[in-house]
Amino acid sequence: MVTAVNLGFPRIGAGRELKKALESAWQGKSSYEALLQTAAGLRRRHWQVQKDAGIHVSPCNDSSLYDHMLDMAVLLGCVPQRHAEVGAPGSLEVYFSMARGSKDAAAMEMTKWFDTNYHYIVPEFEAGQTFKIGGTKVFDEFKESRAQGFATFPVLVGPVTFALLGKPKYQGFSLPDTVARLAPVYVETLRKLREQGADEVRLDEPCLVTDLSAQARAVYKSAYAELAKASPGLRLWLNTYFGDLGDNCELAFCLPVAGIHVDLRRAPQQLGPALESAAATGKSLSLGLVDGRNVWRNDLSASLAVLERAAAKLGPDRVAVGPSCSLLHVPIDLDLEDTLDAELKGWLAFAKQKLVEIAALAKGRASSTDALRASDAAQESRRTSARIHDPVVQQLLASLSQDMCRRRSPFSERAQVQRAGFRLPLYPTTSIGSFPQTGGIREARAAHKRGTLSDAAYEAAMKAEIESVVRYQESIGMDVLVHGEAERNDMVEYFGEQLKGYAFSKNGWVQSYGSRCVKPPIIFGDVSRPKPMTVAWASFAQSLTPKIVKGMLTGPVTMLQWSFVRDDQPRAQTCRQLALAMRDEAADLERAGIRIIQIDEPAVREGLPLRRSEWKEYLDWAVQAFRLASSAVADRTQIHTHMCYAEFNDIIAAVAALDADVISIETSRSQMELLDAFSAFRYPNEIGPGVYDIHSPRVPPIEEMVALLEKARRVLSPEQIWVNPDCGLKTRAWPEVKAALPNMVRAAQVMREREKRAA
Ligand code: GLN
Ligand code: ZN
Repeated sequence: MVTAVNLGFPRIGAGRELKKALESAWQGKSSYEALLQTAAGLRRRHWQVQKDAGIHVSPCNDSSLYDHMLDMAVLLGCVPQRHAEVGAPGSLEVYFSMARGSKDAAAMEMTKWFDTNYHYIVPEFEAGQTFKIGGTKVFDEFKESRAQGFATFPVLVGPVTFALLGKPKYQGFSLPDTVARLAPVYVETLRKLREQGADEVRLDEPCLVTDLSAQARAVYKSAYAELAKASPGLRLWLNTYFGDLGDNCELAFCLPVAGIHVDLRRAPQQLGPALESAAATGKSLSLGLVDGRNVWRNDLSASLAVLERAAAKLGPDRVAVGPSCSLLHVPIDLDLEDTLDAELKGWLAFAKQKLVEIAALAKGRASSTDALRASDAAQESRRTSARIHDPVVQQLLASLSQDMCRRRSPFSERAQVQRAGFRLPLYPTTSIGSFPQTGGIREARAAHKRGTLSDAAYEAAMKAEIESVVRYQESIGMDVLVHGEAERNDMVEYFGEQLKGYAFSKNGWVQSYGSRCVKPPIIFGDVSRPKPMTVAWASFAQSLTPKIVKGMLTGPVTMLQWSFVRDDQPRAQTCRQLALAMRDEAADLERAGIRIIQIDEPAVREGLPLRRSEWKEYLDWAVQAFRLASSAVADRTQIHTHMCYAEFNDIIAAVAALDADVISIETSRSQMELLDAFSAFRYPNEIGPGVYDIHSPRVPPIEEMVALLEKARRVLSPEQIWVNPDCGLKTRAWPEVKAALPNMVRAAQVMREREKRAA
């Protein structure tokens, strides 16, 4: 019989119970005791959901109070010294100190989990660290699940992925040495779990789908040889996901484990090699056929065909079926959505529905006739629905030309026209777009949504806000103003709500980090723009002042990256549709008299494929989409873009290829380090290296910003440099902004005076 397996269930709870319990405990409003009770209640409920859906074996230890990499760090005793001192070993004080920082201990770094929008805590490797079992969570949860009568297997992050994702904090770090020292702790953990009655453990090794060095490959072999030797009677599985095993396929299948999970949604092409390898090595295969990263209903007929092929080759007992990866990355329950219409709902599946799909696949064709019929009907309706397929959009796409992706003249000529038109000083000052989203703004929006604030009253409130932001910027002498984005809830949602082809769930929350959740919109159909989206607000702001007010748009790649996207056409195609919508918006802004338009693309870098060999293709279409969105305007109109991160070395050529007239980037925290990339490459256009770290409440003094600008001046010419914060100000409070921005303006003046003196 084929086994129905799950790899992980969303942790936060359908009512975001864990989020609420965490935040209440952090604020001291409730006890850790209450938090632990909530978490235990959720675990029990989630195991029950999986069992009821017909899943044969579910994971334990997939739940977490914050993050599973953090949990692993605690289990392995990989606790930075500064946090270990905060409380008793294994205590929640230490745990949350690692995650969020405490009085004397800075929080550990957080970064994106592969190419997802989930953030994990980055393990720190310190000199002289000794690893030993430092927590009981996995043992406790296994015991708990068994006591409650659930068939579970413990899931752990595997040793090589753990070590590869960690960050050495000392000179002379060695991967083989670190994994060799971690392995005994894994061995001890597996031995204990075996004693508790576990017969199967799954180790997540997503690094097996990335480019591995020869050294890392060798480490895989030595580490797993040790783990397998030390755990007789225990079936070890490797979970891989997010991509193709590719050139690591042979390596993975030569490791001494009982079975391997492969992601067939992201990499269906690996089915053949995986089947051959499993047949040759006698291993079991777990097939990730139900998408753990997206919200679409599975095509059960297509999945069954794959499953039957595997069962025929290996025998059904050696085949399992599950989600492509943990269901952590999708919302919990479609049944809670009472505002999505029936047709659209019929195309979707959230975690709970996906489990039912997995169970139906495991049962096979004969026992799942109703489910199959319903699935076939849903696929057919998606293929043909007029709500998805818009002939007008398709015609537009078919008529795209290279010319549409090119500004009329090269940057050097545009820059002259723009300089003559704008007459800005050297080191012009501007901001990234948003100003503080105050309680008042949020309340007005909520009341408007509820219907208790009329359209007219809402518009008046937003206009008052815009006017005060414009007046403030005038008063401190900013050169290029913004309207402050008060009317926007979120930079993607705001546009998505006005575009055709987008839908919004009510409860579709997905964990982003810790207690933070996001609710990505769903792109279900061809995207188009029924009418202008920002022109009225931008024109109003511009009407208030003789200074230039920037128009603000979200770029096509970011719109794509931060949404659930269609799986019935290539991402590149959806991205082009978004680009066309933004292109029309930019053209309308220009027509309305807006002279500078910023198209934000903070998500370009996170869209990079995991394998280097796929980067070029992605960057080609991503750059093309941005250029499509930004090239309808005349030379005199200046295009800005913004990216909020600092690691540019890998993609600097693509960033230059965007051909934005001005790019603003994050640099203040890294002390302008990234400018190395820009100097080595000789970035041709203008740059605003952020001089004010808006992620911190700290107000940077004038001299500090001058020093950063001086650094920039060493590698850029003065005509190239803009002066701006690192990112939008929406999360900051007004008092900080009112202290920091005048300093920034002053810093720009200091630089101008120095240039004059030098001349
Ligand atoms: N214009 C947006 C803002 O200022 C940009 C946000 C971002 O880069 N994430 O808030
Ligand atoms: Zn930003």
